[in-house]
Parts: sequence; C-alpha cells; structure tokens
Amino acid sequence: MYCRNCGEAMNDNQAVCLKCGVEAGTGNSFCPNCGNAVNPEAVFCVSCGVSLKKADNKKTENLAGIKKRSIVSCILLSIITCGIYGIYWFVCLTNDMNKASGNDNDTRGGIAYILGLVTCGIYTCYWAYRLGVKRDQLDGEKGSSGILYLVLTLFGFGIVAYCLAQDALNKAVDGNK
Ligand SMILES: [Zn+2]
Ligand SMILES: [Zn+2]
Repeated sequence: MYCRNCGEAMNDNQAVCLKCGVEAGTGNSFCPNCGNAVNPEAVFCVSCGVSLKKADNKKTENLAGIKKRSIVSCILLSIITCGIYGIYWFVCLTNDMNKASGNDNDTRGGIAYILGLVTCGIYTCYWAYRLGVKRDQLDGEKGSSGILYLVLTLFGFGIVAYCLAQDALNKAVDGNK
C-alpha cells in the first residue's frame, strides 16, 4: 500500500506514514494501490482502476463478522418450528443490529426477549422502536424507522419489522464488501 497523502510506499500493517506522518488511509492525492498521483475528487484510480471511495473504517469494523440471513428462510423456519426459530432470529437480529450500528452496549437480544416476556410485550414495543433507530444509524441518515417498527409491532406485524431490519442489515453487509 501507498500513503494516500504523499505517495510513499507503506507496509500493509503500518499505522502512520513515516514520511509525512498522516494516519494510513488519510489524504486523497495518491492511489493507495499503485502509488500514482490521483485527482483528489476521483472515485477510482485511472492508473490501476482501484476504487478510491473513502472506506468508512468504523462502519467496516462494525459490520465485520455479521452474516447475511435469508429473510424467506427465517420466516419459513419460524413457521416450521412454531416460532422457536423466531426467538433465535430475534436474538441474533438484535445482537447483529447492535454491533452493526455501533451500539454494542445496547441490551443483548436474549435479555431483550426475556424483558419482552416479563413486561407482556411492553418492552418489545420499545425494542422495536430502538431497532428502527439503530437501523437508521446504519445508513447514517435521519429516518423514521423507529416509529415505523413501533407501529408495526403495536399492530401485530412485528415480523415485518424483523424483515425490514434484516433487509437493512443484509444490504449493509453487501455494501461493505
Ligand atoms: Zn505520507
Ligand atoms: Zn492506482
């Protein structure tokens, strides 16, 4: 790899450039792949074709290790297992969403499920709202998924909120490649 700021060759695990002192990946004047000068506004390197879109390191880190799930299989499995798989899905979805959106300290899926049971679903409504908020954080946009998921859950369509959240996660994982 090459320093994006000065074009100096760098070791792949080097954290800062020893020539100009910037953090690895900062700057926009040189291609990290071939070291040639690039237009600061360029989205790909004209010398080697590599994408120069600024990778969001934090997001990449958050999404690392999160697997995509087929929404159709999740629903079918939930039906076949009379809802038992749905509990597993709830737990995984919550934990994945917490990690992907950078809310590692949020209530874990297992605890959220139990809280939903002991509060006769009241907590689940709050959970749905939080899930939507975190879903919007994935895109870094201000959205209204929190309200949407809450309303869906209130009217008994919580499964739709699961699907929407899973779909957003799947897309985020895809976009992270
Ligand atoms: Zn440098
Ligand atoms: Zn290049």
